[in-house]
Amino acid sequence: MGNPRAFLSIPRKEADLRPVNERIHDFSEMEQILNTNDRQQQASRCMDCGVPFCHWACPLGNKQPEWNDALYKGDWELAYKLLAKTNDFPEFTGRVCPALCEKSCVLNLSIKEPVTCRENECAIIERAFTESYIVPEIPERNGKRVLVIGSGPAGLAAANQLNHKGFSVTVYEKDEAAGGLLRFGIPNFKLSKSVIDRRISLMEQEGVNFVYNKTVDLEKLPEGYDAYVISTGTPQARDLKIEGRDLKGVYLALEMLGQQTRVLMGETFDKQNLVNAKGKKVLVIGGGDTGSDCIGTAHRQGCKSVTQIEIMPKPPVGENPATPWPNWPVVLKTSYAHEEGCERRWLLNTNKFIGKNGVLTGAEVEEVEWEPNPEGGRPIMKLTGKKEVIECDMVLLAMGFLKPQLPEFGPNVFVAGDAASGASLVVRAIASGRKASQDVEKYLLG
Ligand SMILES: Cc1cc2nc3c(=O)[nH]c(=O)nc-3n(C[C@H](O)[C@H](O)[C@H](O)COP(=O)(O)OP(=O)(O)OC[C@H]3O[C@@H](n4cnc5c(N)ncnc54)[C@H](O)[C@@H]3O)c2cc1C
Ligand code: SF4
Repeated sequence: MGNPRAFLSIPRKEADLRPVNERIHDFSEMEQILNTNDRQQQASRCMDCGVPFCHWACPLGNKQPEWNDALYKGDWELAYKLLAKTNDFPEFTGRVCPALCEKSCVLNLSIKEPVTCRENECAIIERAFTESYIVPEIPERNGKRVLVIGSGPAGLAAANQLNHKGFSVTVYEKDEAAGGLLRFGIPNFKLSKSVIDRRISLMEQEGVNFVYNKTVDLEKLPEGYDAYVISTGTPQARDLKIEGRDLKGVYLALEMLGQQTRVLMGETFDKQNLVNAKGKKVLVIGGGDTGSDCIGTAHRQGCKSVTQIEIMPKPPVGENPATPWPNWPVVLKTSYAHEEGCERRWLLNTNKFIGKNGVLTGAEVEEVEWEPNPEGGRPIMKLTGKKEVIECDMVLLAMGFLKPQLPEFGPNVFVAGDAASGASLVVRAIASGRKASQDVEKYLLG
């Protein structure tokens, strides 16, 4: 621990996002960068607690006190080496992780100003790339071949780990480029796709073989491999099959988000197939993070207005006694997208979509109440009869994803990431991919 009193004298300082009126006009990354001195000062605030709650909260078991100390002392290379031991891709988590560690930081409990672990992590890995601490390492091959199916963070982590252990790794990906939801879900303004390309290029130089536009039938895995990692995510979004679902203007969130990434990659779409919010009154159904990314994307496309509705009650503001520190707090979250402008409403069920000549003009919603379930478990929803029509010409359904039903696999097949857990987080997918790589190694090499 470099500076035992820093947390008393140095306040938390975030890099902050670019101002709203600037950032909503482009798709470039929103987050700014602190100068080197400020970054090291921020790292000095870490108290190296006897019980590192941050470390326990991080699904990867990142060693925040160790790399914060190295960062404070200006030893960026050591900080990188410590970070890389537990995290294959700090450049992804450093940008999009909700920072479970910071919620459980002791400085969050005591003064509500946790150490800026996520930003520190991002700064360390970016320095590692620019200072060339990272060079391709080609391992000696052990003669075993592994097929990874799906190139989201889980598949990439499994492939990276296995490759470094000497396995010959091929990755089959159904899309035209690698990254899974990192690329075709999370918008560019949160994670620039050049960051993914940089990592894929490194992995290719290290010997991982990527094959794109290759959909694997999971009932009949390709032959010729000693083991398989299934990391196919949660391809099926939760839909809302109500009256009017077929109207033009009602889309699944990923239809818009994935297409926007492809447009930025240079692909063109004809007017008929373009999912664009320009000039539209947008209604986002679903109050979670995917909903937020729809709002942010709609703003950048030039929408007229956005309303976001949620069927569940508004979460408590500030503190929630049901989720005390060091747990993840279930409280009202105001995301970057909400700051950009959005009407938010809770306790609304969508009854039907309304349209004219096959085109969406509004959605009929109805207030609901939630009552405790006498048998325990999920509360019971009651419709109140209070209905209204929200005028809109675009609806984005952001209601989560279904957990996939996978076939029964043989003992040499290992499932990782969202495909195993249901929709989750990038950090959990990376952790799960790493675990699958250990299972493969144990299975094949004992
Ligand atoms: C809009 C959105 C925003 C999000 N934002 C965040 C965030 O800010 N922070 C965060 O931590 N998490 C976020 N998440 C969640 C996070 O992206 C996922 O939890 C994570 O990407 C899951 O990783 P995965 O590798 O398991 O699956 P995925 O990323 O879904 O990757 C699965 C891959 O498998 C491929 N595939 C599927 N079937 C086949 C097949 N049969 N053959 C070949 N390939 C196949 C798919 O094309 C895809 O590339 C977000 C999710 C969404 C939808
Ligand atoms: S991956 Fe997430 S939880 Fe883990 S140290 Fe980084 S920001 Fe914290």
